[in-house]
Amino acid sequence: FDQRDGEIWFDGAFVPWADAKLHVLSHGLHYASSVFEGERAYGGRIFKSGEHTARLHASANVLGFDIPWSQAAINAAKEELLTRMNLVDAYLRPIAWRGSEMMGVSAQDNTIHLAIAAWEWPSYFKPEERLKGIRLDMATYRRPDPRTAPFKSKAAGLYMICTLSKHEAERKGYADAMMLDWRGQVAEATGANVFFIKDGQIHTPTPDCFLDGITRRTVIGLAKARGIDVIERVIMPEEMAEFEQCFLTGTAAEVTPVSEIGPYSFEVGDITKSLMEDYDAAVRPKPAKAEVAAG
Ligand code: PMP
Repeated sequence: FDQRDGEIWFDGAFVPWADAKLHVLSHGLHYASSVFEGERAYGGRIFKSGEHTARLHASANVLGFDIPWSQAAINAAKEELLTRMNLVDAYLRPIAWRGSEMMGVSAQDNTIHLAIAAWEWPSYFKPEERLKGIRLDMATYRRPDPRTAPFKSKAAGLYMICTLSKHEAERKGYADAMMLDWRGQVAEATGANVFFIKDGQIHTPTPDCFLDGITRRTVIGLAKARGIDVIERVIMPEEMAEFEQCFLTGTAAEVTPVSEIGPYSFEVGDITKSLMEDYDAAVRPKPAKAEVAAG
């Protein structure tokens, strides 16, 4: 992945992809003082670019640092990167971290760096798997108590247990893992939020110890626009036996149906399919009239 054509925006300049390197004594690497975003561009337009940049700035603040580029500058950098890379449907990965001046737990004065990479990226889960629904293992690790970790930050450190859980699930042949929280309540997958459907209503865990995803909020809005009730509440794992449908949401996952979570199984039903379509329509820029006429 480190040897490709193209460029990466790195601390204010575009550098060749292979040259976008940092020092091994970077605090971000040793002590996880780094925050990042995952964004997608559809048809050349970055979906909710401003919201992602605002979250990046907020994530850094939760970790006690300010990113030394304004939100406007970051938004402009992302656009320019897509143009220079000639990307239309792409994934964007901005990341900010503390540099290498001080090596130790404390790094008050270290330089804050920012890089933005972008590449062409297909669906997160294999397309044929998507329509039949993906299978999830139950994760061993649990989302921590908010008194244990600053969950409102999209911080690299919070992903340690996600990678461990996803690797274990993949070893067993699953696509991903469902994580409970420290209380034993259903929380989220390793990089996506979860929704359930029963009797025509949508149920989803209250995001009080995990990321309230931008896709999650988008899909809640789409469901409400269809007149479907969305209930945010505590969901216990045993309740999964009663739910008829299940899907994940996330920038990468988009709306992905789930067929199995541990011992529980779900159908890929109408509400899930409608929301997949609504989401696809919401993220794609509307074609101009002339293009429609031209077919
Ligand atoms: N939870 C976790 C742990 C994630 O990594 C992501 C992906 N950023 C999400 C939820 C979904 O967030 P979003 O919809 O903003 O991509």
